[in-house]
Amino acid sequence: MMITAPTPRRPHVKVRRAQRALQAQVQQQTQDILAHGAAAAQLAAQAAARTHAGLSPAEVQAWISDLERRLLTIAHHPEHTLGEIEEQLAHSAREPLRLLAERAAQVKINATPCHCRECQTALTHQKFLARTVNSRFGDLRLWRPYGWCQRCQTWQFPADHALGLARNAPASPYLQEISALLVSKMPPEQAVAVAERLGLVLPRSTLDREAHRQGLKAQALRTEAVAQLDTWEGLQTLARHAEEPSPQPFTLVIEIDAWNIRERDDWGHTQTLRAQGQPPCRWHWVYLATVFRLDHRAQTAGHRAVITQRGYVATRLGLEALVPQLHHEAIRRGLGQAQRVLVIADGAVWIWNLVQDRFPTAAQQLDLYHADEHLWAVAHELHGRDTPEARAWVAPLLQQIRRDQTPDVIATLAELKPRLLQAQQEKLQTQIEYFQHNTHRMRYRQILEAREACDQGTATTEQLLLANQPLGSGAIESTCRQYQCRFKRTGQFWTTAGDEALLCLETLWRNGRWHHLFPHAQPSAANN
Ligand SMILES: [Zn+2]
Repeated sequence: MMITAPTPRRPHVKVRRAQRALQAQVQQQTQDILAHGAAAAQLAAQAAARTHAGLSPAEVQAWISDLERRLLTIAHHPEHTLGEIEEQLAHSAREPLRLLAERAAQVKINATPCHCRECQTALTHQKFLARTVNSRFGDLRLWRPYGWCQRCQTWQFPADHALGLARNAPASPYLQEISALLVSKMPPEQAVAVAERLGLVLPRSTLDREAHRQGLKAQALRTEAVAQLDTWEGLQTLARHAEEPSPQPFTLVIEIDAWNIRERDDWGHTQTLRAQGQPPCRWHWVYLATVFRLDHRAQTAGHRAVITQRGYVATRLGLEALVPQLHHEAIRRGLGQAQRVLVIADGAVWIWNLVQDRFPTAAQQLDLYHADEHLWAVAHELHGRDTPEARAWVAPLLQQIRRDQTPDVIATLAELKPRLLQAQQEKLQTQIEYFQHNTHRMRYRQILEAREACDQGTATTEQLLLANQPLGSGAIESTCRQYQCRFKRTGQFWTTAGDEALLCLETLWRNGRWHHLFPHAQPSAANN
């Protein structure tokens, strides 16, 4: 039997039609890719040839026409306020500014040598690659050369560094700064909306990422600054950057306090921890201090104290982190020139131990209002909360504290003790010890007399200075409250890395050193 090969059959007409369509599609795609490549090459060549950033006369004319059209619309709407004028002008300027920014950045790119950042070797295999950068004026399309460093064995984009752009993040330096600023002041979900109102497109992911990245950079700056304390050269530099020496002798005031922050230590293990009966979050101490010169403290007409220049320190990395930071800040604020150093704080033992260790010659003052609270606690215990009897009992003791008669107060409390029940005796003993430990820190009489003399116009020069000395540590307490507004919101949990980075940003801002992290934000840099 013979087997014959089947004669190849022509495919069905439908199959042939589909094959032809597929072939055409592939051809089209190939052409598209080639065209796209050619267009990209042309755009890259155009970008690489750019040497100035200006707008063409046609673009300027288009902008002017747009402005005039918008102003005309406003003129036709009597109900429009200056608000509409502001909005319309800002919108009109956006596209020309975007074009100018894109071109100026391209000029900067073209002027950047294509060398390795590490070893300065000229890069080989140079090509262009476009990237989109999110800027204050909208998206910028930039063409940057890149190349291979033979020595370091890496691909590099030197212009990205020259422009201040991060490797894989689209935010421009201004948007990096605004992300850090907004997130250190408010939760990111609010920051998104605020940014939008300011005309900035900042997605939540960019805000989170940039705030954290900039916070880590702020932390690195802080570490570098504090390391100045460890070397002779560092101390010399630090002294040079300290405040201008004052012609008058001055007192440097240091106030220290702490508050706690809620952190979630073990993300992802909440269920396990709950099952083991452990809470998934823990409270950690945030240590805070402020440093200022007494002659920078003044009173408003309404008798509110204002401090015109002051330094801040904040950390949740423990006392061992706080101490050098505080020492560094104190030197910057004039520790070296101060005639007298005064520490004001509540009765916390760790604070006075720290002071003894780092500022052994400093005068120590207990916050008067904390001392008052301790007396009120006894009054409430003896006579009931807020009763007339409690008020009558405490009044003379509050006066005695103000006249530096703390030993008399201690004697009064000690006399009371035998007449009380056991539990009350123990509570009273705690308060007696509080006053015993702090007697030498309770010197308020001269300050109060100086204030009185000022009111009567009989103050001596010495009293004029002394009257300005605070009785309590209100400056640090208000600082704590301000930090807590951001860091201690309902339902908010932090991670150590996250909160330290943000604390660092907030403190950099408060210390007036924001431009150390964002040089473009140098005060009045853009006004010249
Ligand atoms: Zn290299």
